Amino acid sequence: MSIQDKVVVITGASSGIGAATAKLLAKKGAKVILGARREARLQELVAEIGENASYQVTDVAKAEDVQALIELAVKKYGRLDVLYNNAGIMPREKLADAKYDNWEKEIQINIMGVLHGIGAALPIMQKQNDGLIITTDSVAGHVVYPESAVYNGTKYAVRAIMEGLRQEERLHGIRSTIVSPGAVGTELNKTIDNPEMQAEIDKVFKNSTSEQRRMNTLDPEDIANAVAYVVAQPKHVAISDMLIRPTAQE
Ligand code: NDP
Repeated sequence: MSIQDKVVVITGASSGIGAATAKLLAKKGAKVILGARREARLQELVAEIGENASYQVTDVAKAEDVQALIELAVKKYGRLDVLYNNAGIMPREKLADAKYDNWEKEIQINIMGVLHGIGAALPIMQKQNDGLIITTDSVAGHVVYPESAVYNGTKYAVRAIMEGLRQEERLHGIRSTIVSPGAVGTELNKTIDNPEMQAEIDKVFKNSTSEQRRMNTLDPEDIANAVAYVVAQPKHVAISDMLIRPTAQE
């Protein structure tokens, strides 16, 4: 089995893990349809990848946006082989700070975004009797950290949803995969809405040697490789769960 000609929709494709995965899968011959909010970044990426890529500005918090992204894939290529639900934010806050706006956004993007993808993809995949839905979860979906309860909650929820998806859809030939990265060097830290935590992260980063940084941080391409491995499996092989940490991470 190969990745050649697979039709793959990726959310959160404008940077980090999503962008790296788009480039790698397209290099291996996939047709990638990219969704995110920052149009300029998507345009740049599509220009870099070439004819195997297209994009649609997408806010995963809006069901109609995700529906339109998936419809673009089907209109263009007549099917949907893979949906990669990858968009996410990580504001991080203490529960006592009661940042209702952040909580709402985290739930809308990290949980509802995944459900919007599943809701839009399943009718197509059921008709095809074939399909693969991959979701970026996190080590934060396995272990709870301080000042991260809501982010952790969204990632635990996504694990439960994806396992439910596996159970419900396995007899329709639809596979589901949870990919849980540890720390990856991306723009995700910019979504932290907590200046003290930002300063702490910057301090640790500045005070560590390049060798320590290397052992503590994955590259987005490391996760893209894992996703490519999943996509390349034949139809009878379902990889349900992958946990990928940088070597030195706790
Ligand atoms: P980035 O911030 O680089 O990428 C996040 C992507 O999500 C961007 O493309 C962003 O695009 C998109 N996004 C955010 N909100 C929305 C929205 N409402 N609608 C559509 N797209 C949206 O970080 P990562 O690559 O690290 O993050 C990707 C995933 O990996 C996330 O789910 C994150 O939780 C998870 N993860 C990351 C880890 C890490 O250490 N970096 C560890 C474990 C998991 P735009 O702003 O243009 O919309």
